[in-house]
Amino acid sequence: MSDLDLFADDTEAAEAATLTQQTLVDTQQNLGKMLELMPIGLLIHTEQGIVFANRQACSFLQTGSDMLRGQHLLDYASAADAEAISQALKLTFADPDATCDTECAVTRPDGTSRLMKVITSSLPWPGNPVVQVLMQDITDQKKAEVSLRQMTITDELTGSYNRRHATYEASLYLEAASSGGMPLSVAMIDIDHFKRVNDTHGHDAGDAVLKALTRLAHEFLATNTKLDSPLFARFGGEEFLFLLPGAGSHTAFALADAFRQQVERLAVDLPTTTLKVTISAGTATCRSGDTSIDTMLKRADTALYEAKASGRNRVHSSD
Ligand code: GH3
Ligand code: MG
Ligand code: MG
Repeated sequence: MSDLDLFADDTEAAEAATLTQQTLVDTQQNLGKMLELMPIGLLIHTEQGIVFANRQACSFLQTGSDMLRGQHLLDYASAADAEAISQALKLTFADPDATCDTECAVTRPDGTSRLMKVITSSLPWPGNPVVQVLMQDITDQKKAEVSLRQMTITDELTGSYNRRHATYEASLYLEAASSGGMPLSVAMIDIDHFKRVNDTHGHDAGDAVLKALTRLAHEFLATNTKLDSPLFARFGGEEFLFLLPGAGSHTAFALADAFRQQVERLAVDLPTTTLKVTISAGTATCRSGDTSIDTMLKRADTALYEAKASGRNRVHSSD
């Protein structure tokens, strides 16, 4: 090989090295641009604080990247979520394989708050441990989820819980109640001669009665029971249910009868008249061996039927 050939080889190697170096710089620039422009918030965080924030993170936190540098994610976490964020960062700094996925309400300098999904994971980095914090704004998604869930458990006319939710809640207490744990009772309530209200005063008047009775029931539960989580639901038509976790048969009967008396005193004001209604109720308490909520509801329904048959405006117990 001639000296000329060797020289040519050296030149090629030098050009390749320059190209590699240039590609690396280009890649870094491209990656930097990608990180900067991606629609997810990114913070590069050391134990001391933030060393990099992309554009989206700055927008989420309403703070310029220069300002963010040196600050800490905890400076933005709401008081309620600070501990969870602190734990997530601690865990990720300590374990290079750990990834933490949490939700955090961040409070911005203008006082507004947004809910973020926050994912922390460790980054391979020479020197001090470094954590990457990805942030996604889930405020609107969360609001939509909450209102959708609210719709699935709420009765549209009265705003009370619906039958689906009441039976679901009842099922949560059933196992404990049927095996001798905390007692569980229900009171099935039906408005007396409700058809007459509609026939005489119109459907809107009937609706006003259903709403007034619901308001009264909510006030009643708030002021008349020492139970932890009693629930009132519209079971269908002019039928309602009290779900009474923690109540034995005596308490259930006493509550249903106290409510019956309050309904007796209820005056529903309409534009042209004032309406009075009464209710009948049947109560039932979970027994050992009740494997589904339907068994208990059936007993309450039978007791309600007896209350109707024996004159209405009264409560019967199935126990
Ligand atoms: P009882 O004392 O035996 O319970 O007699 P009732 O008239 O209350 O019972 P019935 O089952 O004969 O009639 C129930 C009525 O409730 C008939 C129905 O039109 C009315 N109803 C059901 N849902 C609604 C509603 O959402 N709004 C109004 N206004 N009426 C309703
Ligand atoms: Mg009925
Ligand atoms: Mg009725």
